[in-house]
Amino acid sequence: MTPRRRSVLLAGLALLSVETIVMRRRGFAIGTHTVVRCRRGHVFTTIWLPGASLKALRFEPIRWMRLQHCPVGRHWTLVVPVREADLTDMDRQSASEHHDLRIP
Ligand SMILES: [Zn+2]
Repeated sequence: MTPRRRSVLLAGLALLSVETIVMRRRGFAIGTHTVVRCRRGHVFTTIWLPGASLKALRFEPIRWMRLQHCPVGRHWTLVVPVREADLTDMDRQSASEHHDLRIP
């Protein structure tokens, strides 16, 4: 690996870490147990890794949407991460009962 390639790689990794930290600070549990809500209001747990759309950094509200299969309603939908602080007791119960363990 050339020094230039290595520095590009390191810059990419640094960006991913920054995004993870930023989202965690905002109250999102980004990682393997991220609670998300679909367009119909279903709540479930999924894997949400940062960096899937670095190109869309300027469009923050949009890049936190993702097309995904909802295991609660068994339909394809757009999902967004939910802040842990915004979860109701029912949301938490639904999230703990519904895990989507697909690797993105
Ligand atoms: Zn749903």
